[in-house]
Amino acid sequence: MDQFDVIIIGAGPAGYVCAIRCAQLGLKTACVDNWQDENNKPRPGGTCLNAGCIPSKVLLESSEYYYQLLHQAADHGIKTGKVSIDINIMMQRKHKIVHQLTSGIQQLFKANGVSMITGQGRLLANKVVQVKQHKKTHLLQAEHIVLASGSRSMQIPSAPLDGEQIVDSRGALSFTRAPEKLVVIGAGVIGLELGSVWRRLGSKVILLEAQEQFLSMVDRQIAAQALTYFKKCGLDIRLSSRLTASDIVKKGRKREVKLTYQQNGETGHLLADKVLVAVGRQPNTQHLFADEVDLLLDERGRIHVDKYCRTNLPGIYAIGDVVRGPMLAHKGSEEGMAVAQTIAGTPSVINTDVIPSVVYTLPEIAWVGKTEQQLQTEGIAYQSGVFPFSANGRAKAMQAEQGMVKILAQAQTDQILGVHIIGDGASELIAQAVTGMEFSASAEDIARTIFAHPTLSEAIHEAAMAVDNRAIHKINN
Ligand code: FAD
Ligand code: AMP
Repeated sequence: MDQFDVIIIGAGPAGYVCAIRCAQLGLKTACVDNWQDENNKPRPGGTCLNAGCIPSKVLLESSEYYYQLLHQAADHGIKTGKVSIDINIMMQRKHKIVHQLTSGIQQLFKANGVSMITGQGRLLANKVVQVKQHKKTHLLQAEHIVLASGSRSMQIPSAPLDGEQIVDSRGALSFTRAPEKLVVIGAGVIGLELGSVWRRLGSKVILLEAQEQFLSMVDRQIAAQALTYFKKCGLDIRLSSRLTASDIVKKGRKREVKLTYQQNGETGHLLADKVLVAVGRQPNTQHLFADEVDLLLDERGRIHVDKYCRTNLPGIYAIGDVVRGPMLAHKGSEEGMAVAQTIAGTPSVINTDVIPSVVYTLPEIAWVGKTEQQLQTEGIAYQSGVFPFSANGRAKAMQAEQGMVKILAQAQTDQILGVHIIGDGASELIAQAVTGMEFSASAEDIARTIFAHPTLSEAIHEAAMAVDNRAIHKINN
């Protein structure tokens, strides 16, 4: 039986980062992962690289170029002639980028001395991991084991996936042409991003969302703006609309899906060429550990962990999507690094109060910390400073006038408690807020910081000044 200091099951952004950090800290490390391509070649990187963050951002980028050429180039005096898109080439580009990144992880493993083991890992008693690949099985053992098995798409009985007409996010990242009519079930982050891709590429897109509130985790003021902008982009978002049934029907040689949904007590019907089910994700715990392993799960089926990501079993840790907290790649990676430190003898935790979230739509939405509604519920006194991109010179030059920056600061201490941005570049701008909050910045700290002109970042500066009612390029109340 091969012996290691650490064995990690799962090479997604949580697992592979943990493996590299463990190796950097001098630990003999193995990382077991089961993701393989169509030629049975290992593809470390998990959902994030293979079927999540990266491929979705590649398609968002391609479709945004196309959309800009169609709808914005003329404003700059650019004459394009007839613009068209070759979906096949767009997909090849996606494939190439994913391949480069997953190969990059293999090189990093090699350079750091991480043993990469391809196969299905299963935790047995006595910290033994069984790895199955094809018909072969072998056993590994380690002092420390990290479970980083990630998550998979949630399924609903009202729309069982058939891999053709009814697909999950993985399917919608690989359509070979823009469906004429795409119905997305769930107007959450994934539904909105992939709905946007296909809308820009020409599909008629309808999103059915069971909840009454749009993007319930987002600050209400920002969510309301987002809904207006998205509708303007042609996304038909129907709230309080719960899918109840789907039937695949034949129309000549074509197959369509007939959908039934409930909206405020009324029954609605829709026909779709393709249906994307994007109703959330669930942790991968099935077949992960043997019956004799007494691993504690929480009420939502995730592996129960403490703030150090320790499970109820000594020496066994769990990180990433398979445990509590937001299902985000960067959250998993940070947990991976913290666990590596803990195993190496310097117990580390991550700051869960300052994890940024991003929706990569047009405009983008990004936030960190508390929403105004959370502060109200928690009875925390705050001041709010808002600055619109329409008053920012660079945003005008970039045709990026939609949106705003909102900073929420504690009323007495002025410490920043939340930053909410909707607008182009929000995914990059939010990093400034995260850095500030990590250092417990006050709005005054940001107000006194010098920002380059003209930049979108100046909207952050102005929003910080607006907390104290002294924004320069805005009429203060
Ligand atoms: P995963 O990435 O799921 O990796 C787990 C790995 O473990 C996989 O390779 C899996 O096959 C393997 N595995 C599971 N069980 C076993 C086993 N028993 N043996 C061996 N291997 C096993 N997050 C962001 O932060 N930003 C984004 O922009 C973003 N966009 C997304 C877009 C889409 C369409 C989707 C679906 C997700 C997106 N996410 C995004 C979420 C992000 O992908 C996840 O939060 C992240 O991948 C979780 O990392 P992880 O390492 O915990 O798990
Ligand atoms: P997220 O958790 O961000 O991936 O978003 C998933 C969304 O899907 C949530 O907003 C859910 O309310 C929504 N949802 C779940 N089930 C249904 C359903 N049957 N019909 C419509 N929306 C749904």
